[in-house]
Amino acid sequence: MVRVKISKNFYLDEFFSKELYLSETNRCVNYIDSRVVAAAQLMRDIVREPIFVNTWYDVNQGSLSNCRVEFGGFRPLSCKVGVVGGQHYWGRAVDLWSPILSYNFLRDSLLEHEQDFMNLGITSYESAPGTHCSLHLDCRAYLNQYDKLIAFSII
Ligand SMILES: [Zn+2]
Repeated sequence: MVRVKISKNFYLDEFFSKELYLSETNRCVNYIDSRVVAAAQLMRDIVREPIFVNTWYDVNQGSLSNCRVEFGGFRPLSCKVGVVGGQHYWGRAVDLWSPILSYNFLRDSLLEHEQDFMNLGITSYESAPGTHCSLHLDCRAYLNQYDKLIAFSII
């Protein structure tokens, strides 16, 4: 499997499901918004600990993994995870999680650097932990100016 680096610490496959990445590797880069890749990297730089999106590729083993987190980035229309038509389906969202850090720690880190994330184009975050205690960020459009990140919850 070809791994394509798209930022200092992230590979393209980390933002896609296994099936989609393996079948459309060369086109996948067109499906994910660069703003969420930049946001993932910013969080990684802030916390200085491993941050994951999808983990179907085992970094340590250098092979496909049984850990099947695979819909934390782009979601194809066939995906039944999450809100239908949500930001993930447009490639504008990412769910960040860490094997070491809690949701609360990631959320607090986000809010401590709120303006930096907004400067990258992030507009929203989910104010409750998602699957794997992940922190959802997205860059959905807003019609009005905003001066802080929009917090939302689907719970
Ligand atoms: Zn999400």
